[in-house]
Amino acid sequence: MLLLDAALPENTPWDRGLTDQLYGGDEHYRLCQEALLGLGGVAALAALGHDSRILYHMNEGHSALLTIPLLETSGADRSGDGVSEEQIEAVRKNCVFTSHTPVPAGHDQFPVALVRQVLGRARTALLQEGECLLDDTLNMTYLALRFSGYINGVSMRHGEVSFDMFPGYPIHAITNGVHVVTWTCEAFQELYDRHIPGWRFDTRYLRYAIQIPHEEIQESHRRAKRELLADVESRSGVKLDENVFTIAFARRATPYKRADLLLRDPGRLREIAARAGPLQILYAGKAHPRDEAGKEMIRRIFQASKQLDERARLVYLKNYDWPLARQMVAGADLWLNTPQRPREASGTSGMKAACNGVPSLSVRDGWWIEGHLEGVTGWSLLDGNADRVEESDEVAGLYGKLERVILPLFYQRPSAYAEIMRAAIAINASFFNTQRVLSQYVRNAYRGLADLVEESPAL
Ligand SMILES: *Cc1c(COP(=O)(O)O)cnc(C)c1O
Repeated sequence: MLLLDAALPENTPWDRGLTDQLYGGDEHYRLCQEALLGLGGVAALAALGHDSRILYHMNEGHSALLTIPLLETSGADRSGDGVSEEQIEAVRKNCVFTSHTPVPAGHDQFPVALVRQVLGRARTALLQEGECLLDDTLNMTYLALRFSGYINGVSMRHGEVSFDMFPGYPIHAITNGVHVVTWTCEAFQELYDRHIPGWRFDTRYLRYAIQIPHEEIQESHRRAKRELLADVESRSGVKLDENVFTIAFARRATPYKRADLLLRDPGRLREIAARAGPLQILYAGKAHPRDEAGKEMIRRIFQASKQLDERARLVYLKNYDWPLARQMVAGADLWLNTPQRPREASGTSGMKAACNGVPSLSVRDGWWIEGHLEGVTGWSLLDGNADRVEESDEVAGLYGKLERVILPLFYQRPSAYAEIMRAAIAINASFFNTQRVLSQYVRNAYRGLADLVEESPAL
């Protein structure tokens, strides 16, 4: 892994700041960053001697300017003769593009005047000849689409959504995954070591979790839950009860994730807890400093939490980061996700939960369309597959599932609950992981392109 750093003494003070911030500054700053990544990235690899035998995999459009030097290498010059199909094909042989964002606003666009200011006249002309400037705008996603030999979305559904967003491009799908060993807590690591030797090297062996006795799943989960609740106490001072059903929701606090969906009707939540059994709700997630709606959503959760009682308690944990996420995905009894469709391109935290035998209750969007088997690996808010749903129906579905299905199962049929935990591991953790993702990229995306991969039999 190479990290580009602009903070060198020979750079001007302004240029030195170009690698300071991920999502900061205005569109000029942003385009300069993308020029540094795309043009500078190709130059850095060439300086290291890798120039010809490289497959470029673009993660979103941020690095798509790398296609300019590739186009130049393929013989396209700036003489005004245009760019030929052969030259474009030559670039495509070396480029893979993965889109992650099902929302048009998530794709970078720059006005041509700014492009000319940053990239210069000649390169802007090259982009024009390559038909990359539509309506005097450089759209980084279109640039990547135009020059990639393989294009994919990050879940089956997201592939379809992207196909509708960018008509005319063949868009495939490779569903995201998580790194299993990283996201599996110590208690489950030890459990897998005992029952599934080799799972660390080949995560497909997790399929055989289906044979682990329920009692051992329950015991390992108890350990993870105890650790989480101890951590909650040390962070918040609140002592929760390890025998009480614990729901976790942790995400970046941004409106489409709808963190507050569970709290639309605190009175109903109190009623559910009184009838079906007590519950504890753990929240975590920060809003981007400029995301006012995200901050407002957190405030609404705090307001609503004041209307809960001893049988339905809520704790909002500060500073959501990887270590906290790791505790939460392992120690909760249920992983809740309530995004607005179709905005969850994939989602990954439910996969992390599955590594620890924690089932999801989620909206049928992103990866959950694939990972969801009702009552087997977890639950969806709504039964059926309607395209259009009202939010009020989703709220009713969420409360209904908790009251009539999930809480009764947890309190009255613990062994049946453990069965679902086990299936979450065997069916979902064995598939929604990075080993499978990487092998799919090699087989579907890389092998069909540059010859260099075919020369390597190991792939
Ligand atoms: C996994 C993770 C995320 C992303 O979760 P999603 O379900 O994909 O939204 C965000 N933040 C942290 C700290 C994580 O561990």
